Amino acid sequence: MTGVRIGVFGGTFDPIHLGHLRVAEEVAERFRLGRVIFVPAGIPPHRRQPETSSQHRLNMVRCAISGNTQFTTSPLEMQRPGKSYTVETLQYLSRLHPKDVFYLIVGADQMVKLRKWYQSEQLFHYCRIIGISRPGTPLDHLQARITADFPPEHVQNIFLFSVSALDISSTEIRRKIREGRSIRYLVPQKVLQYISLHKLYH
Ligand code: ATP
Ligand code: MG
Repeated sequence: MTGVRIGVFGGTFDPIHLGHLRVAEEVAERFRLGRVIFVPAGIPPHRRQPETSSQHRLNMVRCAISGNTQFTTSPLEMQRPGKSYTVETLQYLSRLHPKDVFYLIVGADQMVKLRKWYQSEQLFHYCRIIGISRPGTPLDHLQARITADFPPEHVQNIFLFSVSALDISSTEIRRKIREGRSIRYLVPQKVLQYISLHKLYH
C-alpha cells in the first residue's frame, strides 16, 4: 500500500485563528493531503513564550478542528521535555509512519528564517516543505531568500504556495482581548467560547 500525504502544521497557536485554518484547508486541497496534523509547540525555541499553557492551546486547537475529520492535532511537542525543535518532530513522525510522505507547512514570516532553525538542513531527510504566503511577506522576497539560503537539491523540495490573504495574527487577537474588543469572526465560535470561559488573555 502506498503512503498518505500528511501535512504537519506547527505553531504556537496562542490562540489558533481562521488564518491558520484557511491555510490548512487550501494546502490540503492543493497538495492532496489526506490529513493535516496541527502540532502546538511546547517551548518555542525562536520566540517569546506563549501567554497561555500548552494545555489551553491544545484544547483551543481541538475546538477549532472539531467536526473536520481531515484535521487532527498532536500533543507530541508539548509532551517532549525541553525546546520544541521541528526537526525532532518530523524525525519522530516519519519513523512512526515510514510509508507516508510528510509536508511541513510554514508561513512566509517563518520561512524567511528557516535557514536559522535548529538543524534546518536535516529537515529535508524527513519532509518536503510548503512555504505559505502571508500578508507582510511577499512570496518573491521569500523565493529569493530560499535560493540564497539553501542548495538546489533542497530548494527542489520547497514549494511556495499562495493562499487567500487573511491578515489575522494571534498577536492582534491577544491585543484586542486585552483592550476589551471583539474577536468574533477572527476565531471559530468554539474557540471564542473557550477563551471567554477560561478568561484567557485578559
Ligand atoms: P503570533 O502573532 O503569536 O506569532 P501567529 O498568528 O503568527 O501568532 P503562529 O502560531 O505563530 O500564529 O503561526 C503558526 C504558523 O502559521 C506559522 O507558520 C505562521 O507563519 C502561519 N500563519 C499564521 N497566521 C497566518 C496567516 N494569517 N496567513 C498565513 N500563515 C499564517
Ligand atoms: Mg507567529
